[in-house]
Amino acid sequence: ITQPDLSVFETLESEVRSYCRGWPAVFDRARGSRLYDEDGHTYLDFFAGAGSLNYGHNNPVLKRALLDYLERDGITHGLDMSTTAKRTFLQTFQDLVLRPRDLPYKVMFPGPTGTNAVECALKLARKVKGRESIVSFTNAFHGMSLGSLAVTGNAFKRAGAGVPLVHGTPMPFDHYLDGQVPDFLWFERLLQDQGSGLNHPAAVIVETVQGEGGVNVARNAWLRGLAELCARRDMLLIVDDIQMGCGRTGAFFSFEEAGIVPDIVTVSKSISGYGLPMSLCLFKPELDIWEPGEHNGTFRGNNPAFVTATAALETYWTDGSAMEKQTRARGEQVERALVSLAEEHRADVKEYRGRGLVWGLEFHDTSRAERVARRAFDLGLLVETSGPQSEVVKLLPALTITPDELDEGLTILARAVRET
Ligand code: PLP
Repeated sequence: ITQPDLSVFETLESEVRSYCRGWPAVFDRARGSRLYDEDGHTYLDFFAGAGSLNYGHNNPVLKRALLDYLERDGITHGLDMSTTAKRTFLQTFQDLVLRPRDLPYKVMFPGPTGTNAVECALKLARKVKGRESIVSFTNAFHGMSLGSLAVTGNAFKRAGAGVPLVHGTPMPFDHYLDGQVPDFLWFERLLQDQGSGLNHPAAVIVETVQGEGGVNVARNAWLRGLAELCARRDMLLIVDDIQMGCGRTGAFFSFEEAGIVPDIVTVSKSISGYGLPMSLCLFKPELDIWEPGEHNGTFRGNNPAFVTATAALETYWTDGSAMEKQTRARGEQVERALVSLAEEHRADVKEYRGRGLVWGLEFHDTSRAERVARRAFDLGLLVETSGPQSEVVKLLPALTITPDELDEGLTILARAVRET
């Protein structure tokens, strides 16, 4: 077996890099759900660029749209100028995403990555309410810049800041009283203790399924209870749909099934569909209070990303129900495999859980997931771990994966579990 040439990464690139440590290969090409390294190995992808490749690598329809755009010298730069590519995206987003769901949002382009959208949402909520505290949840992940990190629950990642992270208040995620009734007792007590003045939280930020936190699925009744609490106690509800949006859970927005309408929604990762950086902050029109230029930045207009985002919406969301049905069917295929895997390894598997096409497999032995992921890599499958101790194997394939590819990956996963 040829050893990958990793020398320049090991000598020159910062030690902070992490994905490469579980995947010692030099990747070169990718198409659909497969990646190829420069030494001729093929890998099936159950990672999908951490959720940014819901339509697979180099999706041919999106690629064609991008190449056509570049070949006619379409605008590529950022800022927030009015361009044809942005206009087409906005119109398409309105026609295929917002209007059919009766969602009232204004659209803002806050910058290239997810954390830009989260920073924007937090800043806007604070400005609107004139208060600084934001409630977030245990095991939450909202990004690595200081504001996002302050509402992120991972002690290891928080420690990277080197300074105190302020104005975030953690609460237990998806908490049920007697296993039956959504429980906001601690939250209510906090609100009581803080009083109604400046200490009262401006907003609550939540993921409907915590992707990085270990694939923790909030139940719909809990989300509805949270939305109701926010409305009743004058807090804005921010849903961070950066990883779970764009169809991942079986609906375009992950909160649709719960029947809630958040005040602010953050979207990134798979919105461009092609792995191009782009993010959205969606908010109710009455929150559109910033003066022109009060919040801006250079890379807010990734026009090639608008082009691929438009192609992705037109290809997969013109009849959204087909995409939703397909995602749910693939999800059921994963669930069936996890049922039998958990049965076979009853003593080792603590739990499997998921929604749509995001699933987590948790082991009693917290180090097992990393060994499984590493063995899966050797067998040609890319899977990541998540959770506070990386104790959960996270399955996040492209929504366009075929049933055969899914079976192939699930078979490798079962073998990796057996062999670790
Ligand atoms: N929010 C959620 C829910 C995420 O999963 C992520 C990234 O994994 C982010 C925010 C941060 O996005 P980015 O890494 O693009 O800044």
